[in-house]
Amino acid sequence: PAAIQLDTLTKRYGATVALDDVTLDIAPGEQTVLLGLSGSGKSTLLRHLNGLERADSGSVSVLGVHVDAARGRSLRQLRSRIGFVFQQFELVGPRTVLENVLTGALSELRGPRLGLLAYPKALRIRAAELLAEVGLEERAFQRADTLSGGQQQRVAIARALMQEPEILLADEPVASLDPESSQQIMALIQELAERRHLTVVCSLHQVDLALAWGSRIVGLQAGRVVLDAPARDLDEAS
Ligand code: ADP
Ligand code: ADP
Repeated sequence: PAAIQLDTLTKRYGATVALDDVTLDIAPGEQTVLLGLSGSGKSTLLRHLNGLERADSGSVSVLGVHVDAARGRSLRQLRSRIGFVFQQFELVGPRTVLENVLTGALSELRGPRLGLLAYPKALRIRAAELLAEVGLEERAFQRADTLSGGQQQRVAIARALMQEPEILLADEPVASLDPESSQQIMALIQELAERRHLTVVCSLHQVDLALAWGSRIVGLQAGRVVLDAPARDLDEAS
């Protein structure tokens, strides 16, 4: 079965058609880039996958769950299986790096937690291991807002992996980064995903980065899928 299945998904905001009849199947473990200009519908598509947006028509199925029908507990359960990474990292700046990673486990716990000792030891160990995996173990006790953009995105990725997701969604994860950090973050996402057999959907607007990703590229234009091909085919054509 597909990890993600969109069937004739359409979404409008007033007169704007953000997604127009999108049909797409993504297999478990597949890594897909959503490539399109600003306003082409990439964020809107990603936001349908974890129920942040509701389709006007068509259906959205993720990990066998009909997202459009999911509410309350079933929606929370689904979201705990999906990690999300954002363009602006969305860290809590004044808190330490390690605490930021730990907040990724909040869906496993009850209530808000402030301070490292509010988390069970097993989670603190897992968070430290993830930080080491993204190459930031020596930054654990620094404030998150003292890190560079590329480092902050590494922390955000570690936070997303804290809940041991099956799917990782990344919405323009490198749009705020310089070219070198962008390459590094893309390579890191790929490496971590392969190790865990994660299904990845990552939106980008840069063609060169999409081609370098080397897997499936789905092109969006004005809310429509205008391209769906392995990167190697496109690279040869260019
Ligand atoms: P992208 O992520 O590719 O930049 P978006 O999915 O953010 O594209 O936006 C697709 C279109 O839908 C754009 O025209 C955008 O202005 C519009 N749009 C997105 N979200 C909203 C919203 N909450 N309200 C109104 N229009 C929106
Ligand atoms: P992106 O390009 O990553 O979609 P945007 O800056 O376009 O980022 O959108 C950021 C947020 O604003 C998203 O939640 C999106 O749904 C919302 N949004 C985008 N376009 C509009 C719009 N025209 N009116 C209202 N909200 C919008």
